[in-house]
Amino acid sequence: MNGSTSGSVTQHIGPVRTCIGCRTRTLPSELLRVVAVDGSVVPDLHRRLPGRGAWLHFDLECLRNAERRRAFPRALRVQGALDVALLREHLEQHGKSTGGQPPGRQGTRKQVDPS
Ligand SMILES: [Zn+2]
Repeated sequence: MNGSTSGSVTQHIGPVRTCIGCRTRTLPSELLRVVAVDGSVVPDLHRRLPGRGAWLHFDLECLRNAERRRAFPRALRVQGALDVALLREHLEQHGKSTGGQPPGRQGTRKQVDPS
């Protein structure tokens, strides 16, 4: 609904990042930084994990697009396949936030840590 196909808006608004899913350039605050850790793509929520990062909208659609075009290994400079299960889980829980709600208030469900 918010005009992702209405192409020609080129704003000069400082540093931008490219979503590796839909290739839209936008502010880093609109995107989730992800990094590769042990063969998995993990969300870098605090943007302080070392290594090369990639940027993605909080959107499962963008995740699917990125997977389909194998954007993760390319963007993260990793050889071979990357597991996106953690990232998908994160997007399923927090993606497309309906606005204003701080995360961590949905006390009924607890995330299970795979160990
Ligand atoms: Zn996107």
